[in-house]
Amino acid sequence: MLVVSPRWLWCAETGLREGAHLIVKGDRIVDVVAERPTLDAERIELEDGLLTPGLINLHNHAMSAPLFRGLADDIRPDDLPGHILFSLLMPLGNSVADILTPEAMGDATEMALLECLMTGTTGMLDVWRHQQHAFVTRATGLGLRTWSCPYMYTVPNLSMDAAGKPVWSGEDASDRSFDFVMRLHAERHQGPDGLASIGFGPHGPDSNSPELLRRIDRASRELGAIVSIHCAQNPMEIAAVKAAHGKGSVEHLADCGLLRPGVILAHAMFATDEEIGMVRDAGATIASCPLGFARSGRGVPMARLLDSGVRLGIGTDGVTLDMVDELRGAAILAKTQSGKPSAGSAERLLTAATRDSADALQRPDLGRLTPGSRADLVLFDLSGPRYQPVWNPLRALITNGQGSDAHTVITAGEVRVRDRKLVRGDAAAVTRRGRAAIEQAWAEAARQGAIPASLASQRAFA
Ligand SMILES: [Zn+2]
Repeated sequence: MLVVSPRWLWCAETGLREGAHLIVKGDRIVDVVAERPTLDAERIELEDGLLTPGLINLHNHAMSAPLFRGLADDIRPDDLPGHILFSLLMPLGNSVADILTPEAMGDATEMALLECLMTGTTGMLDVWRHQQHAFVTRATGLGLRTWSCPYMYTVPNLSMDAAGKPVWSGEDASDRSFDFVMRLHAERHQGPDGLASIGFGPHGPDSNSPELLRRIDRASRELGAIVSIHCAQNPMEIAAVKAAHGKGSVEHLADCGLLRPGVILAHAMFATDEEIGMVRDAGATIASCPLGFARSGRGVPMARLLDSGVRLGIGTDGVTLDMVDELRGAAILAKTQSGKPSAGSAERLLTAATRDSADALQRPDLGRLTPGSRADLVLFDLSGPRYQPVWNPLRALITNGQGSDAHTVITAGEVRVRDRKLVRGDAAAVTRRGRAAIEQAWAEAARQGAIPASLASQRAFA
């Protein structure tokens, strides 16, 4: 038994409470009580603590964060020959998967996962390349709950033509992609009683054939598995789908069976109001990643998404890994786009990152602090000067806070981070190994030209 006694306790179902105590038995929350329980139990007490359900990162490529940190920021007009996705992010991601050994890929990934956990994320949907198969073992080892949705492609290779437009090519990889996920699911999927879940990650409606998408639809329904797909994420994708199928990306997904509960559309940045309405009415979810697009000079339509009534989750898309940062980015966009200070409130965005994301993953046992829910929790320490004095702890966290103020992180009832320290494992060693792997990848990618020379020459202190 474990008793957590914060000053404030919040979840979307029950709202904000002060002075309550939360009791955990096994991997479940068994009760929330007003009186200090006289149980023989392990206790965690924090005078200025805010206890919330653990944050869920609904769209991520964790390893991309350290890989592109600094490198993909502040890009100048002549730095890249085309769209950043096609001239840097995808090609470098692919070549690093060839450069690094599976072990080194695992090391880089683990460093990223460590950052997620230490900043209050307890659950994460990650879309990763097949060479990164150490992901499941490393995430589970740290105690992070994950939904792995490995990339799937019909046409696997992406290059650019002279005009900077994306060109997909290569042998049909549909069977290979599909078999990889089916095998991974058979071997590693644990379901609700474990930390690791396996789903399908078709890259997008332009890179996956309708046949592959329909096959994914059938298999995911049979397995009860999640599907994550990038959709309406850039004008090139939309044009390619229109040219090939004569319709918009969202409608195309609907025709392939992939607009329904259990399907999470990443970005939908360029979806029309009508298309967002289709996603909402079908019960699918949009995972929006504000900082990823801000990096490229674009604001995701956060105010429209929040107003539309679509189920919305927030992801970091491998740009930052700190969900508190990402939620603040979402709040700023919602307010500036709508002109309304009330838009993108702390409570609304925390709801997106907890209960609504749990529902998107079809896991009503997560994202809540109600009896019977799984004990995935984060206790933020609001005692520092940046929070004082506290008028409202949710606003203090989202407006002024930082993920590294996560004092205690619990998943499946087990304390993984306590007093800001990893309980099991050596955080410094994980960081050292991850950093070495990325340094090696950068050096070799620059030598091979996967980091364009114009960028490679810019490294500070190179
Ligand atoms: Zn993505």
